[in-house]
Amino acid sequence: MQPKKNIVHLPVYQPGKPIEEVKRELGLTEVIKLASNENPFGCSEKAKEAIASEIANTSLYPDGGAVELTAALAEHLGVEPNQIIFGAGSDEVILMISRAYFEAGDETVMASHTFPQYKHNAEIEGAVCIEVPLQDGTHDLEAMLEAITERTKVVWICNPNNPTGTMVTHEQIEAFMKKAPSNVLVVLDEAYAEYNTTSEYPDGFRLLKTYPNLILLRTFSKIYGLASLRIGYGVGHPDVIRSINQVREPFNTSRFGQAAALAAVKDQAFIDRCREENAAGIRYLTGEFARMGLSYYPAHGNFIMVDVKRSAADVFNGLLRQGFIVRGGHQLDFPTKIRVTVGSQEQNEKFIRALENVLAEIGVEA
Ligand SMILES: *Cc1c(COP(=O)(O)O)cnc(C)c1O
Repeated sequence: MQPKKNIVHLPVYQPGKPIEEVKRELGLTEVIKLASNENPFGCSEKAKEAIASEIANTSLYPDGGAVELTAALAEHLGVEPNQIIFGAGSDEVILMISRAYFEAGDETVMASHTFPQYKHNAEIEGAVCIEVPLQDGTHDLEAMLEAITERTKVVWICNPNNPTGTMVTHEQIEAFMKKAPSNVLVVLDEAYAEYNTTSEYPDGFRLLKTYPNLILLRTFSKIYGLASLRIGYGVGHPDVIRSINQVREPFNTSRFGQAAALAAVKDQAFIDRCREENAAGIRYLTGEFARMGLSYYPAHGNFIMVDVKRSAADVFNGLLRQGFIVRGGHQLDFPTKIRVTVGSQEQNEKFIRALENVLAEIGVEA
């Protein structure tokens, strides 16, 4: 048997080590994971109650169209229900966009260091990825415009960018949309949008009114704290949403995901609290990094990429021994940086102490 040639070179996704395994291997009683940008405050109590009441319906298929959730979310966002599509995480929306739009040999433009699922899914469909270098950790939208050719189908913009945390502004995105050909689909991945505290963050919903070739991606996995339930969504022009719906599996989101998301959308007080805690966490962590003489990219999500000025692998392993799991830049092509998720204040303080220990242990590298 021969799998299709587009996939033979693809690596199998390597998940970070689970907390339990790290505890066992290193003989630790407490391990704090600041590696996957999960919400340290969990999720809304209302979402937990909704999951519990859904247990009675476990044997029944979910509503494939997620009608009730779609209506509630449309109202919350100020869009029409036919502008929304749900996926098993926004990961699945990325997959469906790729499946719906790419034919072998098509081109797609993305940043050189960004969320890996764009490239992964585009390559499975046989598309050619044009990767445009970041400038100071930020999308270079002008260079991305120049990279568009007649063969380009989709441009991916991750905002804030994972893993660097940097942001492009409304003005920059608008200028990009003005110049981008109208037959190119622009995907604006806003997985961390709800963490935004600046006035410059793009108003994607306003841009959607002018640009039918724009689609926004959002998720319930990050600030909403529902990562295990796998539910995210895209918002775009009804024609685009219809095309993506044509490749969607009939029951791609679960009853639990839909019920929890519905309750979570209605509990914006929880979201507001998490946004404030996160902003305070960023102020604390960046203040500490500055005190330690470490530079970092401006952080606009719930994670910070900091330059530890030493081998990222060494710092990663040192932190692991201290009971902290972070994302090591050695796996992301940032050899002296680490990406750390903003935790609770207590976790952040413990993390800074551990980082100071590790950096002192390693000493100053050339
Ligand atoms: C976490 C993340 C997603 C996807 O999360 P799901 O759990 O699949 O919804 C998408 N884009 C970016 C940039 C992310 O960081």
